[in-house]
Amino acid sequence: MGVKVLKFGGSSVADAIQLAKVKGIIDSDPARRYVVVSAPGKRFDGDSKITDLLYLCKTHVDHNVAYDQVFQAVCDRFRAVEAVLGVDIDLEKEFSEIEENLKNGASADYVASRGEYLTAMLVAAFLKWDFVDTAGLIRFDKNGRLDDNATDEALAAALAKSERAVLPGFYGSNPDGSIRTFSRGGSDITGSLVARAVGAEVYENWTDVSGFLMADPRIVDDPVPIEKISYMELRELSYMGASVLHEDAIYPARRGGIPINIRNTNEPDNPGTTILADVSAEERGGRVVTGIAGHKDFVVITLYKNRMNQERGFVRRLLTILEDYGLHVEHLPSGIDTISAVAVKKEIGEQMEEILDEIQRKLSPERVEVFEDMALIATVGRGMAKRLGVSARLFGALSEAGVNVRMIDQGSSEMNIIIGVKNADFEKAIRAIYGAFADMR
Ligand code: ASP
Repeated sequence: MGVKVLKFGGSSVADAIQLAKVKGIIDSDPARRYVVVSAPGKRFDGDSKITDLLYLCKTHVDHNVAYDQVFQAVCDRFRAVEAVLGVDIDLEKEFSEIEENLKNGASADYVASRGEYLTAMLVAAFLKWDFVDTAGLIRFDKNGRLDDNATDEALAAALAKSERAVLPGFYGSNPDGSIRTFSRGGSDITGSLVARAVGAEVYENWTDVSGFLMADPRIVDDPVPIEKISYMELRELSYMGASVLHEDAIYPARRGGIPINIRNTNEPDNPGTTILADVSAEERGGRVVTGIAGHKDFVVITLYKNRMNQERGFVRRLLTILEDYGLHVEHLPSGIDTISAVAVKKEIGEQMEEILDEIQRKLSPERVEVFEDMALIATVGRGMAKRLGVSARLFGALSEAGVNVRMIDQGSSEMNIIIGVKNADFEKAIRAIYGAFADMR
């Protein structure tokens, strides 16, 4: 029988009601043998995430401000869950140890990690499974980078001894044994690492949405769900994927050839979205476009210079300037004598004037145009490469909707067309593109 690894996010473990659903999901399939948990998230709008409260405790201590009220709030949430689930673990002992460490200057990573640690202990007791701590198993090197091979070996060896286990997400340890966390949302990465280490048939990532939809439901009415998507397509759609799944969570599963299935704890019968190495045309239901996603608030800086293509190092120098100002260049569409750099508006902040001076000084372009308030929209689908008429349909739909396209960038993978439109046209453009491709097979 294959093994399934499950990760439950913050909303899935937010309280005892959610944890009862988690147990139902786990009990319904004996292949579900390894479970990774986040720390309790928000139970309702305006509630706090345990991880945020823990960071707050640490900040209080660092500033010599009383932390006890916040710490009590954290403890009380765990106590409440323990009482309702009727499990018996010595939480009080854990709380005093954490508090002691907190007072004695424990690191922010350690303090934050205790949310996952306590949750995993509670869930393990609730399921009557082993608790396997990821400290010492998920290993970071001295530079703070994940030591992939050592982690894989350590997890595989530890889990070989456990038929069924619950593990805390989000953290591992440094070579000196101290705790180190991933970046926020990092329990997804833990789940992916565990899935690879045990050679899982699937990595189920349980959250509060039923996977990905072809477009944002806040913009498009009732968009079709995406049942299967390739890792590459998801990367191209990173504008929409990032909030559901930590982007670094893809790599371990991908390397192990393990599909990732995004599922909804509140709707367990929904098959969700499965992310695979490759998705055949049939698996895609013959659909040409898999998803449409975008973001507002980019800035496009376009340089015009005669015979730019002959000038060696021009692009490099442009990129160096942008790098020096701390910008990420999202796209770099170019023509013979023009090049545009697309950057995130927030990162530019107040630096625009200075950046333009620098560009003028170092590159002497004939003309520079800045277009602020640009939205980028990616239309992505593996099926697009071999199909005639995709661009015609895309641009036809946009012109019919009266949307002016300011920029076009077709990735060399041929499964992605990115367009730039005014922020104000963003929603209209997404609806037009969705309308054009929802039924195209
Ligand atoms: N609890 C951590 C956070 O809030 C990690 C996670 O949930 O994945 O970021």
